[in-house]
Amino acid sequence: MEYGIVGVMPFSLLSLYKQATVKYHMAFHALGAVMVLSAIKFWGGELQNSTIAVAIIGSFLPDVDHILFFYTYGRKSVYSRKVRKLVARHKFRQAGHFCGVNHKHLHGLYSHNFVSVFLVLFIGVTFLRQANWVGAAFWLAMLLHFLYDIFEDFMLKGKLNSNWWLRFDQSVRAADLKEG
Ligand SMILES: [Zn+2]
Repeated sequence: MEYGIVGVMPFSLLSLYKQATVKYHMAFHALGAVMVLSAIKFWGGELQNSTIAVAIIGSFLPDVDHILFFYTYGRKSVYSRKVRKLVARHKFRQAGHFCGVNHKHLHGLYSHNFVSVFLVLFIGVTFLRQANWVGAAFWLAMLLHFLYDIFEDFMLKGKLNSNWWLRFDQSVRAADLKEG
């Protein structure tokens, strides 16, 4: 049977993207740092080592909240228990893979919400207006991190996780989680 390219492309591209973002989620975040640095160059800023360093740090920093979730405020959730068990057995690769395939079931991250999004946007733009490139790179890289996570929610689930609306939900059924 013949399929028109228009009919087939969106579907295959979407499934390709879904596989890629599970495997390379952090690489997509790194791409955010590249985009921020390109924008700063475009706006006439200088790319010093410190600017590049803080853009990279900013693009990953929001996900440090996962560690806080697993070991402090979200430690009782089924999700955290699974991750801690793998880490305790030094199965770091499996723990990483577990998070990769299941992270959209995590609705409890305090940092990932729209107040944070607008806060980092406001601070980033303030630095930008002062031509403080290091400050702008750091905060805008965090902004892109959040925007990518929001985009990914839409692509993978067709809707936003509740944490963006400040509804933090730690309950996840073990049956919904794929093994690491
Ligand atoms: Zn994130």
